Amino acid sequence: MFLDDGLQHRDSKARPETSSAPSLTDIGTRRIFNEDHDLFRQSARRFFQDEVVPYHQRWEKDGQVSREVWEAAGKQGLLGITIPEEHGGIGGDLLSAAVVWEEQMYSNCTGPGFGLHSDIVMPYVSNYGSAAQIERFIPDMAAGRCIGAIAMTEAGAGSDLQGVRTNAKRDGEDWILNGSKVFVSNGWMADLVVVVAVTSREAASPAHGISLFLVEDGAPGFRKGRKLEKIGLKAQDTAELFFEDVRLPGDALLGEPNRGFYYLMNELPQERLEIACFALASAEFMFEETRRYVSARKAFGKTIARLQTVQHKMAELKTEICVGRAFVDSCLQLHAERRLDAATASMAKFWASDLQNKVATQCLQLHGGWGYMWEFPIAKAFVDSRVQPIYGGTNEIMKELIARSIFSQKG
Ligand SMILES: Cc1cc2nc3c(=O)[nH]c(=O)nc-3n(C[C@H](O)[C@H](O)[C@H](O)COP(=O)(O)OP(=O)(O)OC[C@H]3O[C@@H](n4cnc5c(N)ncnc54)[C@H](O)[C@@H]3O)c2cc1C
Repeated sequence: MFLDDGLQHRDSKARPETSSAPSLTDIGTRRIFNEDHDLFRQSARRFFQDEVVPYHQRWEKDGQVSREVWEAAGKQGLLGITIPEEHGGIGGDLLSAAVVWEEQMYSNCTGPGFGLHSDIVMPYVSNYGSAAQIERFIPDMAAGRCIGAIAMTEAGAGSDLQGVRTNAKRDGEDWILNGSKVFVSNGWMADLVVVVAVTSREAASPAHGISLFLVEDGAPGFRKGRKLEKIGLKAQDTAELFFEDVRLPGDALLGEPNRGFYYLMNELPQERLEIACFALASAEFMFEETRRYVSARKAFGKTIARLQTVQHKMAELKTEICVGRAFVDSCLQLHAERRLDAATASMAKFWASDLQNKVATQCLQLHGGWGYMWEFPIAKAFVDSRVQPIYGGTNEIMKELIARSIFSQKG
């Protein structure tokens, strides 16, 4: 975005123009993307401008998006990008998925849970599912006909995932699932939920007694609670889920029994990187909104952009966003090469989401009272930012993980 100040490595004039382009993203200046990504970005940007932005206000009132936008995203090839073609996905690369994450944040529309569905839930099915599970779910998920969610958190267990109480017991070939989950993104609309449950209380440690299950909407005993009323992410259908003697066939188990914690640990770094990417793109969006605002807003006979305090504030924010962008892009590159370790992903999540909130607070302040009004994009971006240091593992937990990697040796 900002790296045009002497750091540009490619000729951005050669890049195609965007139709409804917000000026915030100079797509020719990021080192990690190639021309194909740039072209893909054009179509993703058009999708969010045409299919999401005009409807988002209504969805905020509804507390959920429409089914149609999911299917439209599927038709456009925006879902399941990194899932192999032979599984029914798009077979694209991680950077193309990141393009979709960024473009959604640049549209300032957080309702559709595409990133969670495509790059958090679908990989569980694709990486650990049987051929039959993959065949049953992935093509429909890529088409937006089957919406995915993942249910780890419970009212009494969030950071401490090993404390989950939802459990599944063997009954012949079947499993009987009991318990409840909370704060499940896409939970209200979900057709398929990856549910974390205890399957062995006798295991050496709780982590060795957890399994993952694929639970379909409509299974007898599976009930969705209310859509939760949140301070932000208003169009996102975050829900409670209840499981009462849900009889699951043996093939609802994902992967091997009691290996669930291991699968979670494998997949969480991608979730954390995704949150970091959301954070940086949102920070860039807020910066550009604010740059425009202070350039137009007048006080004491001149635009507030001419005040040195405002200029210095913007200079500080721009610098920090550029530093953050360089780190997050390098993490993206590492992950694309399958070299991103869990601690570095945690650093990206913690630092980028904290930065996002700093930018949100300061950019809202620069809008004065108008920044507090819902009609101004900065107000929505501000409240939507607040959850980022909380979900996907809180930033305090991220620091625990980073610290463990620093002090991993005994003594
Ligand atoms: C909008 C939203 C969407 C979500 N989506 C999903 C989803 O799709 N699926 C899902 O499973 N979950 C989801 N979550 C849940 C989210 O991941 C949890 O809220 C988060 O992990 C924190 O758990 P908790 O709320 O139980 O807080 P707690 O674990 O109770 O933590 C409370 C506080 O204590 C701190 N704390 C806890 N343990 C430690 C420690 N060891 N060291 C230092 N500090 C500590 C925390 O950092 C936090 O500040 C979502 C949450 C929200 C708000």
